[in-house]
Order: sequence, then C-alpha cells, then structure tokens
Amino acid sequence: MTDLIPAAKPIIGDEERAAVDRVLRSGMVAQGPEVAAFEGEFAEHFVAGRPVVAVNSGTSGLHLGLLAAGVGPGDEVIVPSFTFAATGNSVALTGATPVFADIEPGSFTLDPSSVEAAITERTKGIMPVHLYGHPARMRELQDIADRRGVALYEDAAQAHGAALDGRQVGTFGEFAMFSLYPTKNMTSGEGGMVSAVDEQFARRVRLLRNQGMERQYENEVVGFNARMTDLHAAIGRVQLTKVDAWTEARRSNAAFLDANLRGVVVPPVSEGAHHVYHQYTIRVTEDRDGFVRALKDEHGVGSGVYYPIPNHRLTSLAHYAPGLDLPETERAAREVVSLPVHPSLSSDDLHRIVSAVLAVAEAGA
Ligand SMILES: *Cc1c(COP(=O)(O)O)cnc(C)c1O
Repeated sequence: MTDLIPAAKPIIGDEERAAVDRVLRSGMVAQGPEVAAFEGEFAEHFVAGRPVVAVNSGTSGLHLGLLAAGVGPGDEVIVPSFTFAATGNSVALTGATPVFADIEPGSFTLDPSSVEAAITERTKGIMPVHLYGHPARMRELQDIADRRGVALYEDAAQAHGAALDGRQVGTFGEFAMFSLYPTKNMTSGEGGMVSAVDEQFARRVRLLRNQGMERQYENEVVGFNARMTDLHAAIGRVQLTKVDAWTEARRSNAAFLDANLRGVVVPPVSEGAHHVYHQYTIRVTEDRDGFVRALKDEHGVGSGVYYPIPNHRLTSLAHYAPGLDLPETERAAREVVSLPVHPSLSSDDLHRIVSAVLAVAEAGA
C-alpha cells in the first residue's frame, strides 16, 4: 500500500526555525516588537491597512472582537450552524445568544434570506463565516445589516486572501478574525488576527488582550491575557511571505480536481468570488461515510468531514436552538467530504486522488 496522502499538512521550513531561534536568542519572547511588526505586515497584506491586533488564538480573536463590539447578555448574534463550534462558542462566551441561520447549498455560507428571517429586536450583529475559504454573500448581508440597523462581523478563520469583487474579506465587518492554527492557510503555531474598522475599535481589542492596560498597572477595563508571543509572531511573519504562493498552489490543485473529478458534486464558486480553498469540499449524496472509508482504506487518500454535526445539534449549543430545523445545514453535514488540496500535493498525489474518487464513486453508483 502506498503512503497515505494526508488531508492537511502544515508547512514549517528552515526560515521559520531560524526566526524562532533569533527571537529565543534575543531573550525577549513575550509580546513585543515581532508582534507589532507582524500586525503591520498582516494589515498591509490582507486587509488594506486596517488596524490589526494579534491574539493567542482565533477563538480569542472572535471573543474579544465581539466584546469590543459591545455584544453581551440580552443580545443575539446570527451565525451559521454549519461551521466550527468556535463561531457559536465565541458568541455564547460573551453571554449573548447565538442564533443559527441556514446556508446556501452552493457556497456553504450564510443564506441572506435565512438571516433576514432570524432578525429580532435583540439582534446586535450578523457574523458570517467565509467557510472553506469561499467568501460569504457580503453585499446582501451588508444590505440587510444596514436596513435593519445591526452590525456585521466576519469569521475569516479559513479565508486569508479570499475576496469578493476584488475586495478582500476582513475589510467588510466592524471586525474580522483570521485564525493561525497549524492547518489553516498559514500558521503561527497558534494565533489569531483581528482586523478592526477603526483605531478606536482596535484599541478596545488591545485593552481586552492585555488585562485592560495600555499603560502598565493603569487598568482601564477588565481584560484577559490573550497576548501573542514574539515566538509565534516570528513564525507568522515568515509564513506571510509564502502564503500567496501557497494560495496559488491550492487554487491550481482545485482547478485540476474540478476538471477531472466525475460522479461527485465539485464545489461551485459564486460570481465575483475569489476562493482560497482552505478546503476543497465535494458532496457525496449516498453513503458519505463509506466513501470516506474506502478512499482511505483502498486508495490511501485521506479526507475530512467538516463538519459532521451542525452547531445547533451539539450538546454544548443545542439549548440555544430547541426544535430548530435548518435543512441545507443538515444536508451538508450528511454529504460533505473535503479532499486534500494543500500546497504540498505532488502531481502524482493529484492523479491518485482523482482515480481514487472515480473508482469509489463508480463502485458506489
Ligand atoms: C479554526 C476556526 C476558528 C477558531 O480558530 P482557532 O485559532 O482554532 O481558535 C473559528 N472559526 C472557524 C470557522 C475556524 O475554522
């Protein structure tokens, strides 16, 4: 049996190791000049120079962003249910109520009509997820937000460099969060980047990140320790110089899969969307779990199911949504399979993935 092609593969090179070593030798490893430099470089690269605040995880970024936006007990924030639990968790952690809306079948992102139907007098904001690296329907959601007087936030954890009609994700919402977890499109080990609509908003996130202090021991608000270390920032700065080439590799791998796969539903791309393929997600309408098993056991092709249980069905979050029915979310949770699309795939790997999918799809048909 040939080696397993993994579903994801973080790339850490000699430059990242050298950068960490440089910071270690400096003797100053906590949040300092590397973090400040990383924030500036990330801002220029991904969010058109908006202020960016680095934190210790994407989840912290969402949590602090929501707190800085004034979200708290009594408020509702509309989120997708078809996402990683951190989206709804971050709302719940503020004391507000996550309200789950359905997705569109094509892009797997929030369906504006489902969002509109979920708005109440308690709605404070809407937080779409640019799931798998495909931008959510920001124009329609912005329209709804403006009309109904609510805010727009962005979970861009999986979407570094994604864009809609030439405008980068992370520049639409009052704030946006990018995750730097190892399997995301770039990493710092762990980490999150919060882009803010203005300097005042960014300052609130900075205060929350560091015990509410701007000046030492003059604590202005009750805050966390959610700081990024200079070690992590040093890794992130190196990755920032490589991420565009990785994204191009993801996009070209996806184009190859699009052109060659048969018997499964390949991921559609909405008009005007620049997809960065954090995941390449197909639909398998019959026996998805058997399909995943056969890919791995018979062909050595790893894959992932993101996500098998919708957030509104999770033990942790279900009490927010008793009796809620989200048909497209349920169907996606039953049908999705993410194939390897990461930049380390060789041409041989891509051919193996295609023949594996064709063989398994044919056997199942
Ligand atoms: C990864 C992820 C998060 C959380 O980011 P962490 O850095 O792992 O805390 C939030 N939302 C989505 C959609 C994610 O994929």
